[in-house]
Amino acid sequence: MTETRSTCPYCGVGCGVIIESDGAQVTGVRGDPDHPANFGRLCTKGSTLHHTAAPAITKQARLLHPMRREHRGEAPYRVSWDSALGLATETFAQVIGEHGPDAVGFYISGQLLTEDYYVFNKLAKGLICTNNVDTNSRLCMSSAVAGYKMTLGADAPPTCYDDVDDAGCIFIVGSNTAWAHPILFRRIEEAKARNPQMKIVFCDPRRTDTAEIADLYLPILPGTDVMLFHGLLHIMLWEGWTNGAYIAAHTNGFDELKATVRECTPETVSQTCGITKEDLFTAAKWFATSPATLSLYCQGLNQSSSGTAKNAALINLHLATGHIGKPGAGPFSLTGQPNAMGGREVGGLANLLSAHRDMADPQHRAEVAALWGVPSVPDKPGKTAVEMFQAAADGEIKALWIACTNPAQSMPDQSTVRRALERAEFVVVQESFATTSTCDYADLLLPATTWGEKDGTVTNSERRISRVRPAVAAPGSTRHDWHIAVEFAQRLEKRLGRATKLFAYATPESIWNEHRESTRGRDLDITGLSYAMLDSAGPQQWPLRTGDSAGRKRLYEDGVFPTADGKAKFANVAYKPVAEPRESRFPFSLTTGRLRDHWHGMSRTGTLGRLFGHVPEPVVQMNPSDMSRRLLKEGDLVHVTSKRGSIVVPVQASPELGFSQAFIAMHWGSEYLSGCTSTGAQIAGVNAITTSSYCPTSKQPELKHAAVKILKA
Ligand code: SF4
Repeated sequence: MTETRSTCPYCGVGCGVIIESDGAQVTGVRGDPDHPANFGRLCTKGSTLHHTAAPAITKQARLLHPMRREHRGEAPYRVSWDSALGLATETFAQVIGEHGPDAVGFYISGQLLTEDYYVFNKLAKGLICTNNVDTNSRLCMSSAVAGYKMTLGADAPPTCYDDVDDAGCIFIVGSNTAWAHPILFRRIEEAKARNPQMKIVFCDPRRTDTAEIADLYLPILPGTDVMLFHGLLHIMLWEGWTNGAYIAAHTNGFDELKATVRECTPETVSQTCGITKEDLFTAAKWFATSPATLSLYCQGLNQSSSGTAKNAALINLHLATGHIGKPGAGPFSLTGQPNAMGGREVGGLANLLSAHRDMADPQHRAEVAALWGVPSVPDKPGKTAVEMFQAAADGEIKALWIACTNPAQSMPDQSTVRRALERAEFVVVQESFATTSTCDYADLLLPATTWGEKDGTVTNSERRISRVRPAVAAPGSTRHDWHIAVEFAQRLEKRLGRATKLFAYATPESIWNEHRESTRGRDLDITGLSYAMLDSAGPQQWPLRTGDSAGRKRLYEDGVFPTADGKAKFANVAYKPVAEPRESRFPFSLTTGRLRDHWHGMSRTGTLGRLFGHVPEPVVQMNPSDMSRRLLKEGDLVHVTSKRGSIVVPVQASPELGFSQAFIAMHWGSEYLSGCTSTGAQIAGVNAITTSSYCPTSKQPELKHAAVKILKA
């Protein structure tokens, strides 16, 4: 048996794993006791990874060879890699030649490794000269990026997991940490057990398992977070709990914000958020007066039409109280995906450039162009996720390359997404699993390697970079994601008549070294972090500059922020209600979210019966009073209908939900959840009914709220 140190491919906690293999197949997995994210622990998903890599499952569920579909709706047939990449190159070159570079788009994934991400970003921006490269991380953390940049000056979580142990108050908001980040939650439980004086405030419309550990639960109404945060600041100001010295020395813009929160009185906040004034006061007191306050937040803030404002308004509280840049304190955005952070670092989104550079800054564009050896990189921001599929549905984007993600299930407003996939002239799907809904729309399927087979790096929520290592050989004809992108890029470079050799990479390490160099002098400078150092010293947090012996645990300890004058900026943001408020025809607020034992669209976890034991089928959860008023019994089938479509699911009583609220887990797609769009097209999954309304700054869609009606089927 051989043992290989690697990283769990699921959530942003980024737990270290030790893969056991017999050389040919993965035979076991256990937590890596030396990895600082988990110290040997794994949750149900991580500890069953080896079962998802079993040969029987690989045979049934994996995409193992390149496949061509001559006509939509027909079964695909096997082709060679040479033929597949030749077709992709010729078709992309023709579309670019006839319609320009912005007629193509790349939709990639926070589950790709940093090296994969780097090549796709350079391919789009450096070779093709389009910024149309976006990712499913847009659905996950783009509001967190925008919130950090708006207030602290850079997209850099300033905290670390060790801060959980040092906090006097932990403020958890919009995050079911107990289920979505289980190993981090264990750490919170232990910290609380060690220090019973620690206060935990949990704030979420649903009373999830995370509430069990809370000293105070604030069941705010969906979408009212900004009003809550402003209301907390109002009380802190009134009571004299703000930190005047910190505000004066390290921030700008407090007076403007004070004028805004003056209107957010306890009465107004209580009515808007649906919580008591007493609880609001207690939360303000604990947040402000604790020796160190750490806030943990996730999709409840991010997946919102006010996502940036929610993030920024929470960070305002840390700046106003000085709870930042010291042990146990700071605003800590939890990333959903294993490598949402790595994607941000290489600039792999439609509005970012490499190493946290700004697309709008001519100097930054020139730096990236010089690094890559190209004349320029385009200045026009590319299409973000929702915009990209809308552009394809409108006929503006004609060729789409989708890698390691399943937009035909995970994107909101599936009606538009599926119209886009049908209308696009050429769709390439680069995937490990043949079972995803998006595969049905592919003209060309390219088989990719996956966990246990891949080599590269990922960055977790606390800026910690870990190695991902292969334990077994690639099955069938599968290739690594970076390798597929490089081969395509090299062919396209020739076909477009470019004299450059931008993609002369033989290994993921050669890509990593170029990425490292791109970070020189930037806030995330990792010029000192080689693969050799990761191998010898283990996972490291960025920055880690040339000559450093270890990464930086915590940022802004000196009170200096990466802004022009070194000061952070209070964000004077206004509270806005959800994009689609409840109304008489659609009287329920629908929220969506994760379950404990499944991951995203279940392409991996859906292969294991033992993970279904927790929640075996999709349901819509409602408050029992709402059910009895509608004469609904447990298990009755109901239509859940929004303006965009309808699905049919069994109903389940859930006292954890407030009145007029409903919840459906995100994991089930067309295979399990029947439904149709408002035009009658048969599609499914909860995203048949969610809205693609998005935050105007981060462009992150409001997956956490849609107005629906619920009627017996
Ligand atoms: Fe994997 Fe996240 Fe579970 Fe850790 S907490 S084992 S990273 S799914």
